[in-house]
Amino acid sequence: MARMDPHSYYDEDQPKTKEIRFRWEVDFQASHITGEAVLLLETPSAGFMDLDTKELLIGSVAADGRPIPFEPGEPDPILGQRLRLNLPAGTREITIAYATTPRATALQWLAPEQTAGKVHPFMFSQCQPHHARTLAPLQDSPRVRVRYTAEVTVPEDLTAVMSAGSTGVRMGPGPRSRTFLFDMPQPIPSYLIALAVGDLAGRDLSPRSRIWAEPATVEQAAWEFAGIEDMMVTAEALFGPYEWERYDMLVLPPSFPYGGMENPRLTFLTPTLLAGDRSLVNVVVHELAHSWTGNLVTNATMNDFWLNEGFTVWAERRTLEALHGKEKAAMAWAIGKAGLDDAFERFGAESPFTRLKTDLWGVDPDSMYSEVPYEKGARLVALMEQTAGRESFDLFLRRYIGHFRFTSITSEEFLAFLQESMPGLADKVDAKSWIYSPGLPANCPVFRSEALESLQALSAGWKSGERPPENALKIWSPEETLVYLQGLPRPMPEADCLWLDETFSLTGRTNYEVLVEWLSIAAASDCPPVFPRLREVLMSVGRMKFLRPLYRAMGATPRTRSLAREIFAAARPGYHSLSSRLAEEIIAAYPAD
Ligand SMILES: [Zn+2]
Repeated sequence: MARMDPHSYYDEDQPKTKEIRFRWEVDFQASHITGEAVLLLETPSAGFMDLDTKELLIGSVAADGRPIPFEPGEPDPILGQRLRLNLPAGTREITIAYATTPRATALQWLAPEQTAGKVHPFMFSQCQPHHARTLAPLQDSPRVRVRYTAEVTVPEDLTAVMSAGSTGVRMGPGPRSRTFLFDMPQPIPSYLIALAVGDLAGRDLSPRSRIWAEPATVEQAAWEFAGIEDMMVTAEALFGPYEWERYDMLVLPPSFPYGGMENPRLTFLTPTLLAGDRSLVNVVVHELAHSWTGNLVTNATMNDFWLNEGFTVWAERRTLEALHGKEKAAMAWAIGKAGLDDAFERFGAESPFTRLKTDLWGVDPDSMYSEVPYEKGARLVALMEQTAGRESFDLFLRRYIGHFRFTSITSEEFLAFLQESMPGLADKVDAKSWIYSPGLPANCPVFRSEALESLQALSAGWKSGERPPENALKIWSPEETLVYLQGLPRPMPEADCLWLDETFSLTGRTNYEVLVEWLSIAAASDCPPVFPRLREVLMSVGRMKFLRPLYRAMGATPRTRSLAREIFAAARPGYHSLSSRLAEEIIAAYPAD
């Protein structure tokens, strides 16, 4: 028996799925999906096959149409339940009739009040890292790549979209229902299977890109992301042809726990990117870059997550540089460094969780989510680029993507390929220390930008009375304001908070990066005039990147702690399960009052 993925019962010696056919009915009354999954095997097979399931109700299992017995194992809090099948000789396909339950962590069911339109319910999935098994029984490891088709029946006034090509829509089968048909012809890891159902409208942004959102949001979203074709052309020039035909995007309701999720052909996005000034589209550049690094070349398991995220953050900044120049990219690196410093502080620099290659046997990958694989990983890629020289590294990168396209690899497979294609580079940059040792190596690249350094010097001078220029509000970009705020001391006296707010109109900002940085200063400073806006944000937004600093900052004083507990109790029913758990963990770590 050979299990190589700490988060899956998938066994490399057993039969392997090559394609799945889903037939689903989405029931908003019961908050569940009923239907079947047909798993087509790579070759006719026999014997044991272990599937991942979690919180699923399995009705029946058939091998090539003949019912076979099935036995769900003991539930494990991280892995869920192993579903062990014993396949008769020559089995080609397995049909499993099942239903999800309201406890499915992959699915969030929103009441109409939780949507922008307030009339229709909404449902969306988030399968990464190991939640696809709550949506369907399957081999839920990135090492297993599958094509899929789906027939999704939803109430007739709602629209279903998936990380797949649309192949049509028909009325029925029941009264007042519609069935949407999908086909994903390229093999993807199970964590990229994605579904959303709601009152959706689409606007074409280019011949190969459409934005989907609720009707109330779609015009704003179409304006915000109008530059997508430019981004795609720029990214293709850097990383090679776009292989997924279409790049559509879906703006979700505000409870979506992430900034974006790179579901192929249909990136999922938080509405907190709709700043009104296109200042947060770098998240789209990031998700788009995953079309090469992550979706085309995928980490074998969550232990190699840096291969997805480190390369993608690096690719995102190369694209930003090509689109908007070096200064913009340097600023993005600096903003990223603050997130990395935070993660090191949270774990301790010597913690094994600050390695790039992690050992997550027995560890829930959601609880270890941090900026380390992103920002430390991207710095290793940048160091390789600087050491090899841009031109030869870009050639290497295209070879790397070409060689491993549509496969899922380990850090060791990456290192072997690196050694073969650029002999000596790994040793020169000491790649093994980067990958296998904790902390940030001394040869970490530093990204210099004059604008950045003067902003950082200015915020460092706050305590000695230095203040920004009077016209800063007019002349600073949102990124510049963010870098300045990140460097400010906290707590600060209420009068200073109010001065800042007035000078920079911070409480009214629509750029959530700036707004949340400001709100964390105000929360850490126990500044009551800002509490109503703080409450408003925490009540409506579920993006964990924002919940984390805000709930942490509110741990500062008995008054802010009690405010945090009160807001969390009220906000919790509207949060995604991941967001709830995050806030709960932070609040549980507060000192007792
Ligand atoms: Zn990413």
